[in-house]
Amino acid sequence: MVRKVAIVGGGVVGLTTAVVIAENLKDVQVTVISDKWSPETTGDGSAGFLTPYLLGDMPVQTLREWCQKSFEIFQEIFQSELAVECGLGLFPVYWLYHIGPAEEPVYKDLFIDYRPMTQKELSIFPSRFRHGVAMTTFFIECTKFLPVLMKRIQKKGGRFIEKKIHNFSELAGSYDVVINCTGLGSRNLVPDPEVTPIRGQVMKKNWARLKGGPYRPTPRIERESIKTKKGNLEVIHNYGHGGCGVMLSWGCAYHVLGLLREVLEHPYSNEKQTSPSYSRSKI
Ligand SMILES: Cc1cc2nc3c(=O)[nH]c(=O)nc-3n(C[C@H](O)[C@H](O)[C@H](O)COP(=O)(O)OP(=O)(O)OC[C@H]3O[C@@H](n4cnc5c(N)ncnc54)[C@H](O)[C@@H]3O)c2cc1C
Repeated sequence: MVRKVAIVGGGVVGLTTAVVIAENLKDVQVTVISDKWSPETTGDGSAGFLTPYLLGDMPVQTLREWCQKSFEIFQEIFQSELAVECGLGLFPVYWLYHIGPAEEPVYKDLFIDYRPMTQKELSIFPSRFRHGVAMTTFFIECTKFLPVLMKRIQKKGGRFIEKKIHNFSELAGSYDVVINCTGLGSRNLVPDPEVTPIRGQVMKKNWARLKGGPYRPTPRIERESIKTKKGNLEVIHNYGHGGCGVMLSWGCAYHVLGLLREVLEHPYSNEKQTSPSYSRSKI
């Protein structure tokens, strides 16, 4: 039996989630519903710099797992002939601190290299920067990356609908599961007042009319069964990635895949969740 899955949101989080589902689950029809597409999503305005940083009071181990998965997939793309089409490249970075030395992050081994800056390197910068690390990571141009993701979804039979969803109940009866990747849109759609706009981790030059990335003290990735007039609707949330949604996209998409498998196996269950689910309330 073919199960119908709607992914609401056509940004980097929604499209990576749609790719992972379409390429990993048989007998699933994927439909991405969004009121805007690239180049009008938040990711299109981001610097696309792939470095994690701790979000709110999020457990470090969860962050590490998401980053590890994301780096793994970006590395696969980097080694493929798709790297140029996706706008994916390597980026050497100096990360400077006024105070420090900063505590070494638990995910430092994920970078291609990660080391304290030498005194010679520090001397290039204003003297207020007394410590720093040098590392090499990826950057990706989302204006190139998102259309590639859309092609991958299409190749697996996925569909796209341009529409604004005002209430999840609009989707009840038409889809077996809805995945909410609406970013800042979740503030009204869920509704979730914890979602607010922030500027993002890295300012892009000339990106002056800036709406801001969808920030939440921690991202919300969990399932919820919503009562509607047409019966219960299974929803999996994946939003609120703040200034590192590009970085975390693949890791979170695979997390959602795990939850979706569980939902398809045990639909409309009110039982306590057993699969890896993450939200601030569960820490
Ligand atoms: C200046 C700046 C720099 C950044 N730099 C980086 C960086 O270097 N590295 C990094 O990892 N991250 C960075 N970020 C953060 C990153 O851009 C975001 O975390 C990420 O783009 C969020 O993706 P998203 O898909 O969740 O949200 P969005 O891109 O906002 O996508 C949400 C989608 O949902 C749709 N939608 C919303 N509501 C509805 C609705 N009701 N019905 C239908 N569709 C709806 C929207 O149209 C949109 O397509 C930066 C952000 C900014 C602003």
